[in-house]
Amino acid sequence: MRKKVCTKCKESKYLRNFPRRSDNGKHSSWCKNCFKKTIAKTNKRRTLSYTRAVEDRMFFGGNRALALERDNYRCVKCNMSNEEHLLRWGRTITVDHIRGRVDDSLANLQTLCLLCHGHKDILRRKDFIIKEELNLCRY
Ligand SMILES: [Zn+2]
Ligand SMILES: [Zn+2]
Repeated sequence: MRKKVCTKCKESKYLRNFPRRSDNGKHSSWCKNCFKKTIAKTNKRRTLSYTRAVEDRMFFGGNRALALERDNYRCVKCNMSNEEHLLRWGRTITVDHIRGRVDDSLANLQTLCLLCHGHKDILRRKDFIIKEELNLCRY
């Protein structure tokens, strides 16, 4: 059985591990594994940005990004930056509705870190963050 080196993971594998291209029937330069991994990664990225865009429109009337920019991507209460937030919570800084979801205008939106955001909005959205983080938010 012939072997071929995958140009992605640089491993030498049997030819049957290389999917055939649909256009010319030749073995592709990436092995099946690398194909699978790359496809999974792209799908995940696509879903994430899609979810964020839909979330923005549903919950913030499309003003989320504008509010973040106005507040310099920092928590308006404790001044935590988006980078610190990402390191600490594994997600970007949040945007809060000051008077609840009555309106999505910029005047009703403020940038808050998860701690300052507290459980105000978060508790209403179970899937928002994992439980442990929720517990840390209670003070
Ligand atoms: Zn490979
Ligand atoms: Zn804060």
